[in-house]
Amino acid sequence: MYSNAHPRDYPACSGCSLCRLVCPMWRSQRDPRYSAEGIAKARQSGAALADLAPALDACTLCGACDPVCPENIDLSAMIMDLRRELPPHPELVALQVGYLQAAESAAPAEAGALLLPGAALRADPALLEKVTALLGICAAQDDGADIAVALEIGGEIAPQRLRRFLDGIEGRSLVVGDGLLLANCGAGCPPRGCRAWARRWATSTPSGAVSPAPTFT
Ligand code: SF4
Ligand code: SF4
Repeated sequence: MYSNAHPRDYPACSGCSLCRLVCPMWRSQRDPRYSAEGIAKARQSGAALADLAPALDACTLCGACDPVCPENIDLSAMIMDLRRELPPHPELVALQVGYLQAAESAAPAEAGALLLPGAALRADPALLEKVTALLGICAAQDDGADIAVALEIGGEIAPQRLRRFLDGIEGRSLVVGDGLLLANCGAGCPPRGCRAWARRWATSTPSGAVSPAPTFT
């Protein structure tokens, strides 16, 4: 995801259907529109984004389609790009704001390895307690849940917020509960992966989403 090494454009889709075979929304809908292939082919044919909104919303961003595409299209990133052009759902924007407020009042994380539980795990305190006990590490109060929501819906992420989150995990070993954060942190994070992620992110999001780009050396 968010890799400049892969083309992200639907014109490259050859219609081989490999991505459909691994797609959970295709499996549940059995409708070719509900797949990366369907979205790419519809865009090639000039379909309006509004007509694709149900499929774009239904995508779980699981990333299963990304490694199978013989054209190396970064399909989940393509879908996130297209989502950015749709009006965001107000309830998701409100969720992002709520997580951001929680993150801003979060205490600094204790030293050592960190669990970034994500919204789903944090919503189940008993399970979270079991997971932290099993792992033997602390859960960060600021787990970037607002950033994960912003990634999912194409919302804006203030550079100061991104900087604060990355500073909080700098140099830590991480266990990341949210798939989007995990995918965007990438292998080797931290510290170099986080920096590379921030740079890729800053250069990959539409202008204004993260501007000016955070600078990491
Ligand atoms: S990321 Fe979306 S399109 Fe790709 S396999 Fe997962 S649900 Fe399907
Ligand atoms: S795997 Fe790639 S080339 Fe094949 S249908 Fe899907 S998007 Fe198109």
